[in-house]
Amino acid sequence: MVQAPLEASKIQISKTSTPKEKLPNDKLVFGQTFTDHMLEIEWTKEAGWGTPKISPYHNLSLDPSTIVFHYAFELFEGMKAYRDSNDKIRTFRPTKNMIRMNQSAERIALPTFDNEELLKLIDQFLLIDESFVPKGNGYSLYLRPTLIGTTPSLGVGSPDRALLYVIASPVGPYYSSGFKPVALEATDYAVRAWPGGVGNRKLGANYAPCVLPQQKAASKGYAQNLWLFGEEGYITEVGTMNVFFVFKDESGKKELVTAPLDGTILEGVTRDSVLTLAKEKLPSDEWTISERKFTIHEVFDKAAKGQLVEAFGSGTAAVVSPINRIGWNGKDIDVPVADGASGELTKDVAEWIRRIQYGEEEFKDWSRVAQ
Ligand SMILES: *Cc1c(COP(=O)(O)O)cnc(C)c1O
Repeated sequence: MVQAPLEASKIQISKTSTPKEKLPNDKLVFGQTFTDHMLEIEWTKEAGWGTPKISPYHNLSLDPSTIVFHYAFELFEGMKAYRDSNDKIRTFRPTKNMIRMNQSAERIALPTFDNEELLKLIDQFLLIDESFVPKGNGYSLYLRPTLIGTTPSLGVGSPDRALLYVIASPVGPYYSSGFKPVALEATDYAVRAWPGGVGNRKLGANYAPCVLPQQKAASKGYAQNLWLFGEEGYITEVGTMNVFFVFKDESGKKELVTAPLDGTILEGVTRDSVLTLAKEKLPSDEWTISERKFTIHEVFDKAAKGQLVEAFGSGTAAVVSPINRIGWNGKDIDVPVADGASGELTKDVAEWIRRIQYGEEEFKDWSRVAQ
């Protein structure tokens, strides 16, 4: 039998008879409440992708031997839907999430699918739960596409059954009252990702091991880990975000730097958006935009010479997250934050991206209207 491809047109919809009460915007907590429905598609090795279903949000029922529980056959995506001023629902560069999700699936022997078919299904899901997409700047509906292996067996092997599902959680702005810069511990005793590993894939298995180092950093007064790699102390990412630094040289020319995609870096949609917009909007006689290796030593040296301008993390949840201090080797360096909130470029980047997300500005095909 041929494996059926994922086909959005086969969708079956059953709507809830008990709609949930919606929380007011100021009560929204990231990932704690969900919309009325969920999207699910089962896959089997024999038949391929089954009928896509949108049905009331529900528990899953899985055999305790199911492969996802034992060998971490799990991957996910994180993306958001935004309500524009005409009450249209928009997603931001969602094809990038689909491409990345398929790369994650391929890496752990889970089935891949057609990007556009899943996006069509997500659009339908969004239209059905449209009333959960909050209104207002910084508010959005967080989408969590997930793919798990569901073979009920303790054998380690490629799953012959899988479940792709998408759930959605209304969320408020990461910073409810302006930016709040964070302090980082430059972490070298624990490693998030390594060459030849899977740090460039959004696999659930990458995240649990990072929680204990984060707790240790927090106990010393640092909000997040600045993940270093190797004896050189290469800077890779911050927490679960990509990281950018701004340096300036003696002549005053500035450089925006982030680590290159060498297999240890998660290929953030926000990262790519920052790089693309910075190249587009920053004058090239004043700025260099670099994807290159750089180390914690370079940051400390530049800070000592007054050449460290600002730094920020980038990711879907916060868009940008300003950094004001980095602890390393028993020393702290202060990272400038213009008005105590964020650096100048950090603020500009946040606004460039926000305007496209909320449909206030069209840029390439970056904003997709659900229809
Ligand atoms: C998801 C993620 C990011 C950010 O990716 P975005 O697509 O910008 O949200 C960065 N680093 C890690 C480790 C991540 O899991």
